[in-house]
Amino acid sequence: MFNSLSDRLSNTFRNLKRRGTLSESDVNATVRDIRVALLEADVALPVVKQFTGRIRERALGAEVSEALNPAQQVVKIVNEELVGILGGATRRLNLAKNPPTVIMLAGLQGSGKTTLAGKLGYWLKEQGHAPLLVAADLQRPNAVTQLEVVGERAGVPVFAPERGNVFGHDAALETGEGTRSFGDPVDVAVDSVTHARDKGYDIVIIDTAGRLAVDVDLMRQAHDIRVETAAHEVLFVIDAMIGQAAVETAKAFADGVGITGTVLTKLDGDARGGAALSVATVTGEPILFASTGEQVKDFEIFHPDRMAGRILDMGDVLTLIEQAEKAFDQVQAKEMARKFMAAEDFTFEDFLQQMQAIKKMGSLKQMLGMMPGMQQMRAQLDALDDREFDRVEAMVHSMTPFERNHPKQINGSRRARIARGSGVTVSEVNQLLERFGQAQKMMKQMSKGGGMPGMPGMPG
Ligand code: GDP
Repeated sequence: MFNSLSDRLSNTFRNLKRRGTLSESDVNATVRDIRVALLEADVALPVVKQFTGRIRERALGAEVSEALNPAQQVVKIVNEELVGILGGATRRLNLAKNPPTVIMLAGLQGSGKTTLAGKLGYWLKEQGHAPLLVAADLQRPNAVTQLEVVGERAGVPVFAPERGNVFGHDAALETGEGTRSFGDPVDVAVDSVTHARDKGYDIVIIDTAGRLAVDVDLMRQAHDIRVETAAHEVLFVIDAMIGQAAVETAKAFADGVGITGTVLTKLDGDARGGAALSVATVTGEPILFASTGEQVKDFEIFHPDRMAGRILDMGDVLTLIEQAEKAFDQVQAKEMARKFMAAEDFTFEDFLQQMQAIKKMGSLKQMLGMMPGMQQMRAQLDALDDREFDRVEAMVHSMTPFERNHPKQINGSRRARIARGSGVTVSEVNQLLERFGQAQKMMKQMSKGGGMPGMPGMPG
């Protein structure tokens, strides 16, 4: 996501770095570069115009700074404007004073609504809420079953019309044949809110029907669900990969249904980012969440400032820390820090724990992609294979506890046994031990020298 946009913007800024002062023609050239970069990233034209217009105005304006050189100043302006078009401040969910809060999901078919229902439910449950998922997508034969599967995975109950509990009878159903048709989605949605109130669920998440293309019936139905349930949040769910079509779709939902915010899905893909950068401006409503994979935990609060930082390759340190905190056992982390400070030997046992913690955070590639400076190492990052990680883990698992704690004692015959046990070659084991020895040495030096070596790409 945003790779080529990031690269292009970095190039633009690199050209500026050599300048002592910024002339009007420097600014114009920069703005032109930024415009091309945004258009290539599939950002909607009106948004591009607005964005570059403001940058030009501000860069030429009276903002002379003593502290920043011209390039830094432009980066600062671009960053602030990026945060602006991404929606400004982080927007939290609007919870009702009198529960249940009704959250409705609307969007095209395949945009990721059902998957999102599970993620949102799981996340809210973790925050101590009692969510209820509601199957109001009664068009697609499998939609109800799919939501039930998602609910089970997330550990969140699902309200769905049952065969014995149909609204509006249907001959095919009575004979138990044909497609499942459960009557009116609006009724189901309204009933679910009553059910939630009776049973003490404080948040209702309504999954509505999507279609392959925007259509009038779908809009009216979604609109009716919103009105009849007095939904507190109507989240427009959009696949970040859809490119230029994002604008039209977003407008259609904003006008036809009325939305309170957006959720971007499939941010883990290699979309160019246009939808993400256009949708808040086009709809006038903020982006609340980002969906970043198919698993229930692949879900983040959307922070415009951090996303802008990621696009400008300043690294998303905050997200990284947050994810690390989620994954790291506090006790384990403290013990690791103590060892580090005491310059004790880092063992394979520690290494295994670290690897497992990293795995809990998601894929290694994904994590590294968020680190500062990594945008410039794209090629290496792309070549990185998560399976490599599994091979290393297999090797460590094939070591005895003694070997893990005394890596230096791993002689030739032990190496051969480890290779056999983990299905790799002896030279792979040798490589691992060598690299591990170097890492051990480096960690010792770092803990003695007091401090990390400078991180590339980090300011200061
Ligand atoms: P719906 O038709 O809007 O309910 O969409 P679904 O929830 O059924 O999702 C459509 C497809 O996209 C499914 O194959 C999901 O597994 C996949 N999907 C949903 N969200 C994400 C995401 O954030 N990342 C990726 N890679 N796939 C996703």
